[in-house]
Amino acid sequence: MNKADLNPDRPRLTAEHIYEQMGVSSGLWNLGVQVLEELKDRFRAIDETAEVNQLKVLGAMQKNRISAEHFTGSTGYGYNDAGRDGLERVYADVFHTGDALVRSQITCGTHALSLALSANLRPGDEMISISGKPYDTLEEVIGIRPSRGSLAEYGITYRQVELKRDGGFDFEAVRQSIGPKTRLAAIQRSKGYLTRPSLSVEQIGEAIRFVKTLRPDLLVMVDNCYGEFVDRLEPSDYGADMTVGSLIKNPGGGLAPMGGYIAGTKECVENCAVRLTSPGLGREVGASLQVNRSFYQGLFLAPTVTAGALKGAIFAANLFGRFGYRCIPDGSEKRNDIIQAIEFGTPEGLISFCEGIQAAAPVDSYVTPEPWAMPGYDSDVIMAAGAFIQGSSIELSADGPLHAPYAAYFQGGLTFEHAKYGILKAAQRMVQKGLIRI
Ligand SMILES: *Cc1c(COP(=O)(O)O)cnc(C)c1O
Repeated sequence: MNKADLNPDRPRLTAEHIYEQMGVSSGLWNLGVQVLEELKDRFRAIDETAEVNQLKVLGAMQKNRISAEHFTGSTGYGYNDAGRDGLERVYADVFHTGDALVRSQITCGTHALSLALSANLRPGDEMISISGKPYDTLEEVIGIRPSRGSLAEYGITYRQVELKRDGGFDFEAVRQSIGPKTRLAAIQRSKGYLTRPSLSVEQIGEAIRFVKTLRPDLLVMVDNCYGEFVDRLEPSDYGADMTVGSLIKNPGGGLAPMGGYIAGTKECVENCAVRLTSPGLGREVGASLQVNRSFYQGLFLAPTVTAGALKGAIFAANLFGRFGYRCIPDGSEKRNDIIQAIEFGTPEGLISFCEGIQAAAPVDSYVTPEPWAMPGYDSDVIMAAGAFIQGSSIELSADGPLHAPYAAYFQGGLTFEHAKYGILKAAQRMVQKGLIRI
C-alpha cells in the first residue's frame, strides 16, 4: 500500500464521482451506463466505419505527397498556393471525384450550395428538388421565399417533388416532373430542420441512377451536410455530379475555422471556381492565409470525430427514448447523418434541453441561450453552442425552431466523452425543471 492510499483527502476520481461534481446525479449517470451497455455492438460497427474512412483519408494524403510545405499559406492573389491546390486533390481522391473546390472563401454550407447551383444553372433552366422541401436557408437562395439575388431573379425556375410517406423517393412523380427545361436535380441527404428520415447513400444512389437513366445529361447535386464519413461511401461514389458541404461540420473535423467544399466532376467544379472568384480567374486565385494546416488536420481527424458524434446521437436517442420522447431517428434505426432530432412537444422542454447542452460546453458554459430571429430562418431559433469555432456544429450543439413539435436538433461533439456528458447534463436540466423523472 502506498502513502496516497492512506490519505483520506485523496480525491476519488471515479467517473460517477466526477459526474456528480459536474452536476449529473448518480441515478442519471447509472441510467447512462445501462443505456451504453446495450449499445456496444453498434459502437463497434461505427468504429469499423471510422477505420475504413481514416484509411481513405490517409491514403489520399499519401498519394498526393502532402508535406510541411503544404501547410504554409499564401497572401494577396494566392497564386501557386500548393497547400490549397493539394488539399483540393486530396478531397477529390477522398470523394472519388474528378475535382474539388475547398475554400475558406466559401463562407458556409449555404454558400457552397448556392455556389454549386448558381454556377451550374443558366437563365431558363429549371432545378428540381427530389427530396422535398430543402433546408431553410436554401428557400431564399432558390427564391421559394422571394429574396434579393435569388435564382428566381435570374430566371431559373424551381420544382419540388415530395418524398413519399415512408420517406423514400417518389420515382413516378420525379419522372412526371422532369421536363425539357430541367437541368439539375437536388437531393438533400440529411433531414435538416425537418422530422423526415435522412436518406441513405444507397437510396441516393438509386435516385441518381433513376434520373440519369431518364436524362443522362441531368446534373445531380447532393447536399451532403452532416453526412460525410457516416458511411463508407459518399453520394459521389454513386455518381452525384456535385457533393456539397460545410467545413464547420463533419469534414472539417472541428479544426477547420470556416469554409465549404464542392467535390464533383471537372466541368461542374470548374463552373463553381469561375463563379466563386471571377470568369478568367477561377481557381488560380484565393489566398489561403493560414488555414491550410487546419483544413488538412481537420480532414484527417474527421472520420473519428464523426464517429464520436454519431455515438453521441445514438446515445441521446436511446436515453431520451426511455423518457418517452419521440426521437428521429429512434434508438435502433440506421444512421445516415449525425443529427438527432428529439421532439419535446413544449417550448420549456426544448429550451431546457438546450440550456443543459450549453452548460456542458467547454466555452461559454455560463451563458444561457435565448431564442432569437436568426437570419435565413422563418421562426425564432434557440441555439446552444459553446464552441471553439463559432457556429460550428460538428462541436456539441443543439438548436431548434420555436414552433411545434418543439424539436431539438442535436449534433456533434468533438469527443464522444463530451457528447455523453452534454446529453446527461441536458437530461439533468430537465429533471430539475420537473419535465422528466428517473
Ligand atoms: C447546415 C446545413 C446547411 C447549411 O449550412 P450552413 O453552413 O449553416 O449555411 C444546408 N443543408 C443542410 C442539410 C444542413 O444541415
